[in-house]
Amino acid sequence: MEGLLIKNGIVYDPLNNIDGEKMDIAISGGKIVEKVGNAKILDASGMIVMPGGVDIHSHIVGAKVNAGRLLRPEDHYKDVEPKTAITRSGVGYSIPSTFTAGYRYSRMGWTTVMDPAMPPLKAKHTHEELNDTPMVDKGSYPLLGSNWFVLEHLRAKEYEECAAYVAWMMRATKGYAIKIVNPGGLEAWGFGRNVRDIDDPVPNFDITPREIIQGLCKVNKLLNMPHTIHVHTNNLGKPGNHVTTLETMKCVENLATDEKPVIHLTHCQFSCFAGHDWRTFRSASEEIAKYVNSHNHVTLDMGQITFTNTTTMTADGPFQFILYQITGNKWVNNDVETETSSGIVPFQYKRKSYVHATQWTIGLELVLQIKDPWKIFLTTDHPNGGPFTSYPRIIAWLMSRKARNDVMKKISKRARRKTLLSGIDREYTLFEIAIATRAGQAKALGLKDKGHLGVGADADVAIYNLNPEKANLAKQPAAIRHAFKHAAFTIKDGEIVVKNGEVMKSVNGKTYWANVKAPPSLLEIEPELQKVFEEYYTVKYENYIVPDYYLATSAPILIHAKV
Ligand SMILES: [Zn+2]
Repeated sequence: MEGLLIKNGIVYDPLNNIDGEKMDIAISGGKIVEKVGNAKILDASGMIVMPGGVDIHSHIVGAKVNAGRLLRPEDHYKDVEPKTAITRSGVGYSIPSTFTAGYRYSRMGWTTVMDPAMPPLKAKHTHEELNDTPMVDKGSYPLLGSNWFVLEHLRAKEYEECAAYVAWMMRATKGYAIKIVNPGGLEAWGFGRNVRDIDDPVPNFDITPREIIQGLCKVNKLLNMPHTIHVHTNNLGKPGNHVTTLETMKCVENLATDEKPVIHLTHCQFSCFAGHDWRTFRSASEEIAKYVNSHNHVTLDMGQITFTNTTTMTADGPFQFILYQITGNKWVNNDVETETSSGIVPFQYKRKSYVHATQWTIGLELVLQIKDPWKIFLTTDHPNGGPFTSYPRIIAWLMSRKARNDVMKKISKRARRKTLLSGIDREYTLFEIAIATRAGQAKALGLKDKGHLGVGADADVAIYNLNPEKANLAKQPAAIRHAFKHAAFTIKDGEIVVKNGEVMKSVNGKTYWANVKAPPSLLEIEPELQKVFEEYYTVKYENYIVPDYYLATSAPILIHAKV
């Protein structure tokens, strides 16, 4: 493959401390290199050059997403992707078909996307859809926070045995990280119940959510996993849940020994609600930001909402039941045997609704009050807060006070009166945007070759037609939106795949998974597992495991456990 030289771009590469420097980026063999001889020249004068975008949390594949597609034909025909000589056709606004999702990410300059919620029993379906998601590297996190094996090991304080099981699970499902949703609550939901707080024991298991979070955090450290535990808190989506959120962060404080994060709280906007009920509901962003500003063991992503018609979907079955009761909309509920649950409800976020408008302010208040941009990342919890295609709009809100004020004029008056946003002057710089949308996310995921443009990194690059030297960007949110919506160039593994927002070449992308190696004594758990499978599962043990060849492009990351 011929090399590529990106010349004269204005480079933002936070992991290498490069903040808007004019420089060249050399590419050869799909990697960033020091120098390249015989190379095609790409003139990026007057344009921004960043590492390819990385998404730590976006529901783009799997059984739940597919059920959402079936549930919502109305979502299909309002957004149609025509076939071209290079791309397949597709449909879907909030729940696009797999190929369409890949193209849309690539057009915005994103090159890595993690699907955050894989029921292990549905892992094969998840990988079938990941195989069909082109243009980006990807991976998925198995749901383990209400899994019977995990609950039983942790109840008995058998951390090493639990670690052995989780290591097996990563290999069996080709999973990347430990996902915990409403710990214990999903098991309770199998009996129509839930847990009230992190100290409320899980029915039939005599273990508390606190013990599950702490236990899996210990297991995560024992296994030396690339990412921290990835947590959707108990009580998500309920007024007053900021107390649970603070407790959740606090409960693993003493497990952080080396100033490194040990927990990631995902879509934290939905876990940042104060008040006793929907009438007294208000933002708790000050309390949460204050805690995060004074602790280093936690990272977050926003879960920003946008005012649109979208499809909410989560493994948090009991939460979706509440949403169904509030809206009366269509609803899917599912219980996944001994593992997890899920629910889906279509949802319209309205500017004039006090609650929705306040949710809109919470996401932005959090980012703008948390001082260190390496601690909170840009997401919408796609499609829960809105589709990922709204990222350019959110980037504009972060970078431009004017953009925020333009929206604020149209939202619920009560929400406007109460929000802290009008008093916040902070405007994100392009350097900070590069952290929030790629560098920070890659670092949190432990993807060492992603999120930066240093020598040896994967040659995943985004070039945007926006000249920070010419314009006062904060005054021109429309220009920011336009530039991030249609990347001037997206480069994937050294190849130009998008030009001026058009897909020029379809590529496959790799599927990352954590190939955790542990001592043999810990790996001899298969006979025991087989017995339990015979008794409790509807599938045979042999059919449960996802073989390596099932992945179109398998990219195992070898990890040596510390046990
Ligand atoms: Zn999510």
